Amino acid sequence: MVKIGVIAIQGDVSEHVQSISRAMDILGIEGSVITVKKVKDVENLNGVLIPGGESTTITRIMNKSGLTEKIRKMYAEESIAIMGTCAGCVILAKEVEGGEVRGLELMNMKVMRNAFGRQKESFETFVDVKGLEEPYPAVFIRAPIIEKVWDDCEVVAKLGDKIVGARQDTLLALSFHPELTGDHRIYKLFFDML
Ligand code: GLN
Repeated sequence: MVKIGVIAIQGDVSEHVQSISRAMDILGIEGSVITVKKVKDVENLNGVLIPGGESTTITRIMNKSGLTEKIRKMYAEESIAIMGTCAGCVILAKEVEGGEVRGLELMNMKVMRNAFGRQKESFETFVDVKGLEEPYPAVFIRAPIIEKVWDDCEVVAKLGDKIVGARQDTLLALSFHPELTGDHRIYKLFFDML
């Protein structure tokens, strides 16, 4: 029985809750998904999802509430799985360019915020993702680019020559929004890390 928490401060929270629950149904996984606002909400979770939204806002509140510290500790001690999409990708990175964001800083990667331009430059395209047989329909909304990865952090998705997905141990970071496409396959990659 797996239990996943979606950080519910700002951004695409309900979309992820619905998509995770739907993916569990499709894949026949017994589990539950909850929203996380406070430190007490993350107790007993196997996985944490950090949604897209505004990384500055999300980190400010996560840091203040103690969630950042608590999630770092759970990752270090219990190897929980963490998936971050778009703003969540920024929050997972050790190095961030394009604004002051001090998030979880767990993944050995450098991320450039808003690297594809403004909201109106949002787009959808197919991306090859390691572990998926067919290309994935990826939605980019003021998305970050992963400029480089190092040590045990591995590139798992690319758009042309740009890195848009990386994995390190039980951490998965994606520049795009799997909660908006109805394609559950990315969630399977997340569940497989639990
Ligand atoms: N530009 C946002 C940030 O860096 C991310 C955009 C998104 O999550 N859709 O916080």
